[in-house]
Amino acid sequence: MKKIPMLIDGEWVHGDAEAYLNVKNPSTGEVIAQISNASKEHVEEAVRAARVAFEREDWRQWKAYERGQLLIEFAHYIRKHAEEWSLLECRDVGKPLSQARADIEAAARYFEFYGGAADKVMGDTIPIEDGLLNAVVLEPVGITVHIVPWNYPIQITARSVAAAIATGNAVIVKSAEDTPLTTHAIAQWFADKLPKGIFQHITGLGREVGPYLTSHPDINHITFTGSVPTGIAVMKAAAENVVPVTLELGGKSPNLVFADANIEQALEGVVRAIIQNAGQTCSAGARLLIEERIKESFIAQLAQKFQAIQVGPGEADMDMGPLLNEQQYTKITALLQQAKVDGYVVTGGEPLTLAGYENGFYVQPTILDGVDPKDPLAQEEIFGPVLTVLTFSSVEEAIALANSTDYGLVAGIWSQNIDTAHYVASRVQAGQVFVNNYGAAGGIQMPFGGYKKSGIGREKGFVALRNYTQMKNIAIRYAPPNQH
Ligand code: NAD
Repeated sequence: MKKIPMLIDGEWVHGDAEAYLNVKNPSTGEVIAQISNASKEHVEEAVRAARVAFEREDWRQWKAYERGQLLIEFAHYIRKHAEEWSLLECRDVGKPLSQARADIEAAARYFEFYGGAADKVMGDTIPIEDGLLNAVVLEPVGITVHIVPWNYPIQITARSVAAAIATGNAVIVKSAEDTPLTTHAIAQWFADKLPKGIFQHITGLGREVGPYLTSHPDINHITFTGSVPTGIAVMKAAAENVVPVTLELGGKSPNLVFADANIEQALEGVVRAIIQNAGQTCSAGARLLIEERIKESFIAQLAQKFQAIQVGPGEADMDMGPLLNEQQYTKITALLQQAKVDGYVVTGGEPLTLAGYENGFYVQPTILDGVDPKDPLAQEEIFGPVLTVLTFSSVEEAIALANSTDYGLVAGIWSQNIDTAHYVASRVQAGQVFVNNYGAAGGIQMPFGGYKKSGIGREKGFVALRNYTQMKNIAIRYAPPNQH
């Protein structure tokens, strides 16, 4: 069995041989690799190495555009190996191959985008008075920790790591226990391109390894992407050492469909928003808010589209793949079972057994209707291909429903009325709002993050560079030379 080593201080390191963790292909249930469960000592060693690497003159001497050039070179490398890397991601996460291909391309674009930005991270000057030059300088924060979830491993690793390297930090990535493969591929590329200790990769159980990292007194920033409960634990650990955090957490994002929408466009958008990655997407459109007077016909058409969704193994590249693992599968099938008993299931609701893939974790895409807006099915992240329908009769009711959860990551608005679209966009509590589309094809350049419990701070776009810099104000007094 292929054993994936960690990258610590420029060395490929394996943990305790007794404590390897299995990595499974969700499409087949097969073990495809094993990873080490890092110890506290591994984490100590990584942080020590990162500090040495960050302080060393050779990293300091890298010019901003040289860091940028390296990231752009990496983007080219990723594109050159796109098919191989797509297969790796497809097998690791179980997602349909074309969705994995899109993730690989997005990763290349993050490295390209932040590579291009590296020498454009500019400070400022502030006019104070004659004889005083006041400069605001942006410096790297130091050691940045990146904790990544399993649903979009390469994209989420790429987006924060690229910004952190572009700005001159030393990076430690902790990948999710289920999906370390593409992060390992990134580590393999950086291993001999960057000074040792500037990019390090740690693997292992989040609940054990995570706190070693997040409570470490010598780190300078944490970018955590994952669930709200873990995000809270990360923030508490960071608070002990006054370490800043960027938190990208979950969502229960609404798609609001008004009677004046382009119905075919809205149907396509609503389906895609919940089916992508089998609904295991932070920004999944998990709630459909539908205007009462078109509800019956819209749901009937939507149900037809759900029934036509082809479910299969990632490599067969159908519309939807399996859930990630047994834990997800058990949770979601139990929830669907109960929803059936409660009479909420419009279509779907069953586990699926596929011939030849009996150990994969497949479920039917499902629509639930009749759920109380306060019910956990309408409030909490399910993280599966399950769409909860809620109904409204007025714009104000639609807005109230959209804002009725603790989350605020994304919202979709489907209307051809310019007033409705603008007004609702201005009232919806969400970090990203899409009108007559959902997702804007990935949106590498757009600030992304949550209102309310969906997170703190923003990733993507230029604004994310600020996560990895700290501001220094330098005031320089000068006078005519003859007065010295
Ligand atoms: P998770 O919170 O269980 O784990 C995320 C990461 O944290 C993993 O690497 C895990 O090993 C690690 N971890 C676990 N316990 C830890 C601890 N105590 N301290 C530090 N690290 C710890 O989340 P998940 O199940 O991997 O991912 C799904 C969640 O991520 C969903 O809630 C989803 O919405 C969210 N997510 C958010 C975004 C976003 O950008 N907003 C993107 C993708 C996923």
